[in-house]
Amino acid sequence: MPELRLYNTLARRVEPFAPADGQTVRMYTCGPTVYNPAHLGNFRTFLFEDLLRRVIRLAGWQVEQVMNLTDVDDKIIRKAAATGANILEVTEPFTELFHRDRRYLRIEDAERYPKATEHIPEMIALVERLVANNVAYIADDGSVYFAIARFPDYGKLSQLDTREIRAGARVAQDEYAKENAQDFALWKAAKPEDEATGAAWDSPWGRGRPGWHLECSAMAMKYLGETFDLHAGGIDLIFPHHEDEIAQSEAATGKPFARCWCHGEFLLTDGAKMAKRVGNVANVVDMRDQGISGTAYRHFVFNAHYRKQLNLGDDSLEQSRAAVNRIGAFARRLVEATTGTAALADAATRAERAFLEALFDDLNAPEALAALFTFISEANRELDAQGDDLPALERARAAFRLMDSVLDLVPEQEVDADLAAWVEERLSMRRAARERRDFAAADAARAELTARGILIEDGPDGTRWRKG
Ligand code: AMP
Ligand code: ZN
Repeated sequence: MPELRLYNTLARRVEPFAPADGQTVRMYTCGPTVYNPAHLGNFRTFLFEDLLRRVIRLAGWQVEQVMNLTDVDDKIIRKAAATGANILEVTEPFTELFHRDRRYLRIEDAERYPKATEHIPEMIALVERLVANNVAYIADDGSVYFAIARFPDYGKLSQLDTREIRAGARVAQDEYAKENAQDFALWKAAKPEDEATGAAWDSPWGRGRPGWHLECSAMAMKYLGETFDLHAGGIDLIFPHHEDEIAQSEAATGKPFARCWCHGEFLLTDGAKMAKRVGNVANVVDMRDQGISGTAYRHFVFNAHYRKQLNLGDDSLEQSRAAVNRIGAFARRLVEATTGTAALADAATRAERAFLEALFDDLNAPEALAALFTFISEANRELDAQGDDLPALERARAAFRLMDSVLDLVPEQEVDADLAAWVEERLSMRRAARERRDFAAADAARAELTARGILIEDGPDGTRWRKG
């Protein structure tokens, strides 16, 4: 197994990576703000993190991944207030949708999805520690701010000089009494809108709600410990979000927060960052309605290195659809094959090595995909040759299984909708016939299905079918 190397934003270079305890990678990934559907740009980042966790497992470690769900923030409150709703009524349906979309893209379950609103006591306790350590101060209105001037390491992740940060921030000292324009809110005093939407809690400083950065620090440390292995997110989170997470956590504990920071680049459309506020977003539901599989989007994303920008053009997903169909056809061919050749085994060994080397070298998925496609061409040729080496075939199957355990690109077999409807109709005729004990009619329905090559299987939860 080659050594896993990752680009660590904190060190600004590619470095060897291993979990501190040699067994489990404790990993925190910033999750979605659940007030509308996550877009394909957000999912580019979540797919990069899916790749990361699968590669970590391939390296022989376990993963403990935490992805937070931001279920209280300005945009959520504004949306709830507009309809007189509680924030929960806004966030619950979008939380469900997020998981549905995620599964469509075959993004594996994280071990935990903690919600900000369920961790208010942990967040208050963290603010209390910061106040006690004299790095936070309480403003007249009951808001609490982090004083960046009292944390000398501030800026180490984004490598912005604090002087620059201060000079660059010509924002008027806004409505709150901040000591410094760049000081950020740990705790925000409640406004009437917050109370009206259920977004205010009691605290030692009066009613209020947590700042966004605070939730990630509190939940990461609760579930992963004060120092953990890996923290990931999109590149836009480096500053200020991750910089502020580091400040709050390290100023409270005096220990390093995450050991390694990984950031994925943006998805663009027509050269502009895909973002809700730009209005150029596409989402998973649109994609599904256009008949594009989750595997096609996975392929599209993995075909670019995660640290390079990627542009979603008109025919990008068409090309990826063709690519995954090729992978699907090859997967079926491997199942159906009965034997192989010695050269097939060699091709499998070569492919596996190239695949691992590419991925372990800072997740070079495009090169890993190239190794897979080279293997498909070579293996197809060897399968045509009709050899008699059964272990070689097993070797090829194992190599393909290994590659697919990371990429997960074999599409569902396409069945056209008319055929599916026709089959369902015959199945319900057969069910009805059996219920009235008309076995001749049930057999006739079954015979119609068999005649069209449909195989059926009765099981505990109904009848399943597939094209033979
Ligand atoms: P948000 O819901 O805005 O907090 O974003 C969730 C995740 O998506 C974060 O890790 C962002 O960095 C990431 N993200 C947002 N826009 C894009 C984009 N256009 N391309 C890639 N990642 C993005
Ligand atoms: Zn975060």
